[in-house]
Amino acid sequence: MTRYLLSDRDDLVSVVIVGGGYAGMMASNRLLGSLTSEERARVRVTIINPTDRFVHRIRLHEHAAGIADAALELRSMIHAEVTVVIGRATSIDTARQIVLVDTAAAEHLLAYDWLVYAVGSRSASQVPGAARYAVPIGDIDGASDIARRFAAKQVRRVCVVGGGPAGVETAAELAEAHQSARVTLLAGQELVAGMRVAARRSIRRRLQRLGVVVEEGVHVAEVTPHGVKTVGGTRLPFDLVVWAAGFEVPDLAARSGLPVDQTGRLLVDETLACITEPRILGAGDAVRAPDAVSAHLPMGARTALPLGGAAADTLLARLRHEVAQPISIGLLGPSISIGRHDGYIQLARPDDSPRPIAVTGRLGAAIKAWVCRMTIDRPRDERTRPGAYRVPDGPKPAQRHRSSTAATHR
Ligand SMILES: Cc1cc2nc3c(=O)[nH]c(=O)nc-3n(C[C@H](O)[C@H](O)[C@H](O)COP(=O)(O)OP(=O)(O)OC[C@H]3O[C@@H](n4cnc5c(N)ncnc54)[C@H](O)[C@@H]3O)c2cc1C
Repeated sequence: MTRYLLSDRDDLVSVVIVGGGYAGMMASNRLLGSLTSEERARVRVTIINPTDRFVHRIRLHEHAAGIADAALELRSMIHAEVTVVIGRATSIDTARQIVLVDTAAAEHLLAYDWLVYAVGSRSASQVPGAARYAVPIGDIDGASDIARRFAAKQVRRVCVVGGGPAGVETAAELAEAHQSARVTLLAGQELVAGMRVAARRSIRRRLQRLGVVVEEGVHVAEVTPHGVKTVGGTRLPFDLVVWAAGFEVPDLAARSGLPVDQTGRLLVDETLACITEPRILGAGDAVRAPDAVSAHLPMGARTALPLGGAAADTLLARLRHEVAQPISIGLLGPSISIGRHDGYIQLARPDDSPRPIAVTGRLGAAIKAWVCRMTIDRPRDERTRPGAYRVPDGPKPAQRHRSSTAATHR
């Protein structure tokens, strides 16, 4: 049975946020934190999310290693006046301004005046056997499954596929937490290929110090029940294959007939409004803004949070009949944990290009732990202190020289 969740009262503005991750949570908190009490009385904010949990994805490798719980209570992260609908949006009907939501009980129709598209990303692989036999690190179920298998002592040889930051953090965390297991990290190219040579060398050495076997230039052609087969035909036996090699975005925008790029990301303008549907805004991994304002922005929580804040700023401007400003987001550089006692913090210019300075070792680990806390605390503070989560201004157009990093993380 299909039911309407909100009556479309003329005097009530319905803002529907699809996705309760970093971008969606930030957008809701910045918006409600910024509205006056009179404005709040006229605005109804609803978040649609598949579960009542907020997945702190940047700690999923710790969750997988059994040393942290990355699933937090969604309600504890968001403004008290947000209505949460537990379900999955299956389609956006732009003509009727309605979202179809599949919940455990029924299919619902949710009317919106404004919609924020913030559905994020998930692990993905086209490699045969990966979906069936490898366990993805990119979602909470995968991370929980990895933790369970280690707890059940089923794993002696584990392989992490993917030499990017998520693969590095996962391999390091598993090696440190489970010292009796042999951890191999398979990187298709060089380790953390986008980083400086000095960074790559340092991270490789730090992983090896933890006992991780690092194999670079190894392409996995197939995942089997007993390990992996490389492009060269070599079979490598493992008890567990962890997939950290690719991310994809949900196809909700494409399925709903909205404009998307070749990877399925919603196309938005410089204020984060969908290029064909101005009442839809987008933020986070699942959207693509013009290169002029976003070529330097990788997919990542450190991008999703300021984008969520900027989407709220655009929405506020629209609700108040003001002119929305183009986004200007500067970054501080990637931070990578290497177990609990080591890390690699790359200092960067606002356009994310590296400065020749990095903080490593225990101080690096401490900074990364602080980043993880701040990624939760500051957006939560936005409920009462809009602007609590601050980033530097973005690079000036002349400084922007990196090309868009389509489906890579961080
Ligand atoms: C192990 C690991 C470590 C990482 N470390 C870092 C790091 O140190 N720094 C960094 O910047 N990035 C890091 N990342 C990447 C970061 O987690 C993502 O880029 C970030 O989560 C993107 O935020 P988001 O809000 O766009 O999406 P998400 O956090 O993915 O949230 C999207 C939400 O939308 C929900 N959703 C999806 N489809 C629907 C639907 N149809 N209806 C309703 N809801 C839906 C999802 O369930 C989810 O709750 C890491 C990733 C991993 C896997």
